[in-house]
Amino acid sequence: MSIFSKHLPAIHVEHYKYTAESPTEKMPVPDKVYISMVQHIGAPCQPKVEVGDLVKVGQVIGDTDAFVSAPIHSSVSGKVTAIDKSLTMSGVWDLIVTITTDKKQEVLEGLAPPQIDDKDSFIKAVRASGLVGLGGAAFPTHIKFNPKNLDEVDSFIINGAECEPYLTADYRTMMENSELLINGLKNTLKYLKIKRGIIGIESNKAPAINKLRAMVKDNPEIEVMELRSVYPQGGERVLIYETTGREIPIGKLPADIGAIVSNISSVVALQNFIETGMPLVSKKVTVSGNAIRIPKNVEAPIGTPISQLITFCGGYKRTPKKIIMGGPMMGAAVYDDGMTVNKNTSGILTFDEELATLPKETPCISCGRCIKACPMLLMPTLLAKAYDAKDVEQLQKLNVNLCMECGCCSYVCPAKKQLAFTNKLGKRLVMEGGKK
Ligand code: SF4
Ligand code: SF4
Repeated sequence: MSIFSKHLPAIHVEHYKYTAESPTEKMPVPDKVYISMVQHIGAPCQPKVEVGDLVKVGQVIGDTDAFVSAPIHSSVSGKVTAIDKSLTMSGVWDLIVTITTDKKQEVLEGLAPPQIDDKDSFIKAVRASGLVGLGGAAFPTHIKFNPKNLDEVDSFIINGAECEPYLTADYRTMMENSELLINGLKNTLKYLKIKRGIIGIESNKAPAINKLRAMVKDNPEIEVMELRSVYPQGGERVLIYETTGREIPIGKLPADIGAIVSNISSVVALQNFIETGMPLVSKKVTVSGNAIRIPKNVEAPIGTPISQLITFCGGYKRTPKKIIMGGPMMGAAVYDDGMTVNKNTSGILTFDEELATLPKETPCISCGRCIKACPMLLMPTLLAKAYDAKDVEQLQKLNVNLCMECGCCSYVCPAKKQLAFTNKLGKRLVMEGGKK
């Protein structure tokens, strides 16, 4: 029996999409880029260049033979001036390749569209493009596109929900790169032999829905589906349920129920590679929040420091108290604006003290709102109790690992409990077998 009713639980959040009508502006090439060798889930890349090497745009500068990985390319032309260890946002040590740019943006000689004739050459091209999930998860795309049971997959779903407040980079991509998007979808369906393509877009993006619908009117295999404007409509499990009515059983993957989900920007970047041979070297990012002077959508070379995007957006108009990479619901706070734009960076949000200060927690009043709001039908209040007791067995029984850290429970809680964060800690506790 389905655990979901017609619609799953979701919440309404204020959208603050100030940059929706701001066409993407290309940033000037910075003096230096700092390209992390950890740009995806899986094995980190090893540098394929040395200090002193001259590099060009599109050149591979990092790769590994490990299965779960994707190559990393230079976003600029210039000289490798350092390869150092540095701390990542998640607190692990990482190698950073520093390239001092020559501002010429010379493209690697011989860069050409890949030869694609069948599924294998398509998947090979996807890896060569350096693509990973650009919406945040950063899972290597060539693995996602090639599950063991690919012949059972009948639906390729593109996530155009962009349900996080403030973020509009995907919306701008749908408006500005619609041909790449539709052609990328057609190629993916063709080479993976998937029957149906769905682009799921929230109803608050009517111009994108109308534009894409007009473009696919003669393609019955593609449907542009209007989704409710609720959060977290773009969560993978949620999106699959809302577009196909299928639910992912515990411990299974989307491909197990016949679906593959991809982000808007990933499909656009893939088609760009197919047409030009240029791998993923830049990223469209929404720079917004109440501390930034001029909120914008910016296309920046991968490895550009956040501070330079801030400067490009007129600097701060208020003293920032918090900078978030990603959206305010699921993004991560950064400790330094010297951190850089990575493949999966979708937003840089800056907030002043008033918006950044967390309200004081008070005791739970057992109102049940957190349970009603959870799209995964979990019991956040009980999970919090289990975490406080460091009860690993109970955390597992309550399926803490199903928590996608969407933050709905924390958002609706009148006691201002940081339930989503507690679940993050709970998952770590389970992973470490309670050794805390
Ligand atoms: S953060 Fe986890 S527990 Fe809270 S609403 Fe989202 S999925 Fe449910
Ligand atoms: S929403 Fe907050 S106050 Fe209400 S039951 Fe959940 S934890 Fe308790």
